[in-house]
Amino acid sequence: MKIAILGAGISGLTAARLLTDKGHQVVVFEKNASPGGLARSRFTNGYLYDPHGGHIFNSKHSEIINWVFSILPKENWQFTVRNAKIFFNEKYVSYPFELSLCELETEEAVECIYDFILSQQGEEPDNFKDWLTWNFGKGIANSYMIPYNEKIWAYPLEKMETQWMKGKMPLPEKKEIIRSMLLKDPSERKMPHSTFYYPLHGGIQTMINAIAADLDIRCNCPVQSLKKIGSQWTVNNEESYDTIISTIPLPILPKVMALPEEIIRHISDLKYNSLTTILFDCPKTDITWLYIPSHTYRSHRVGYQSTLTPYATPDPNRGCAALEVIGRRFEVLSTSVKERNIVPEELGFTKVLDSEFTEYAYVIHDLNYRKNVDTILKYFSRDSSFKLLGRWGTWNYKNMDLCMLDAMKLVEGM
Ligand SMILES: Cc1cc2nc3c(=O)[nH]c(=O)nc-3n(C[C@H](O)[C@H](O)[C@H](O)COP(=O)(O)OP(=O)(O)OC[C@H]3O[C@@H](n4cnc5c(N)ncnc54)[C@H](O)[C@@H]3O)c2cc1C
Repeated sequence: MKIAILGAGISGLTAARLLTDKGHQVVVFEKNASPGGLARSRFTNGYLYDPHGGHIFNSKHSEIINWVFSILPKENWQFTVRNAKIFFNEKYVSYPFELSLCELETEEAVECIYDFILSQQGEEPDNFKDWLTWNFGKGIANSYMIPYNEKIWAYPLEKMETQWMKGKMPLPEKKEIIRSMLLKDPSERKMPHSTFYYPLHGGIQTMINAIAADLDIRCNCPVQSLKKIGSQWTVNNEESYDTIISTIPLPILPKVMALPEEIIRHISDLKYNSLTTILFDCPKTDITWLYIPSHTYRSHRVGYQSTLTPYATPDPNRGCAALEVIGRRFEVLSTSVKERNIVPEELGFTKVLDSEFTEYAYVIHDLNYRKNVDTILKYFSRDSSFKLLGRWGTWNYKNMDLCMLDAMKLVEGM
């Protein structure tokens, strides 16, 4: 079969690699100058930077781990146990917050644990904001969960659904929280992503390049037109293909192909947010991520690139970190970072090294999400020669491993 894949992110590349291995003829169309999509890395003045957020790899699916290590063998990766912290009331508290109540001031901890013991009574709410209070109690919800989620989503939490977070958010059971208090052990061993891998050299781009090797990828080649004539698809009015696999964001499709009005309406009702990351030189630390729930600061999270690999900075005695700010594009200068109160000053971020804006960062699971996505996916499933895949192609909060898993499943049936 001759197959066109739209988008050279991890979803498109995984599908392309597996289909090529099966003997299909595959061409990948990518609008950017290099492959990777959200999962990419570059070096700025010798500092490692994942411009769309630090991308670590892990999976609970052994077939994904095995496949990735078959392409980039395990000795090329650094294994790390996460050491994430929360900047709470101008102090560092371990992550996740609900297992670290023993690190709070006594009265704060008592309030949180008391409300938590009384929580989960009555009917489970179906909007995210009420659910956070229902599940964790008022103390934990108001101190951490609500302000942090208000910052990362930049969308009213009462207008978000709750189904998306199962398996994505750490949701410890009541007994675990009480045990962590009694033992004074904020252990997060069983939490998702508590350990992970990251390439020793070259950033996550090394994994991308290994998957992309020898594939026919047309970079700087945005998809501008998709047409079906008989049983064949043309891309940009050029060559024809038997099958299209689209991983590009759904809102692009109405601009490049004919679609019914109803589907265009559902696509235009999809919600997402955008992100700016800013790379800084900083003092060396063993913290992997720092979460900042306070609305005093605009950034919600700092990812320390220099704890992912020892080869992230030109000077081994310095660190580097990328802070993340949700919202519209803004001009990034050292002065604007200070004036806009983006991060606490004491973190020692003084010199901006690089920055990048990401238009499509997080899918927002608003209350219309299910209806919109189900209708769109059902429409596209009618034509088996046009397949949707990936975080933006299927409009789903998925990490790289689940994107790879979906690509594997798709290719199995082809
Ligand atoms: C801040 C942040 C941190 C994250 N951290 C992690 C992490 O640590 N670990 C993890 O596993 N996952 C992480 N993720 C999730 C991960 O980025 C995604 O799951 C994954 O990269 C999605 O891959 P994709 O191929 O589906 O989409 P994308 O990577 O978005 O790929 C889509 C591709 O389509 C291209 N494209 C768009 N329009 C066109 C067009 N018109 N023509 C041609 N090409 C086009 C884009 O340029 C892009 O290359 C993170 C995401 C964010 C936002």
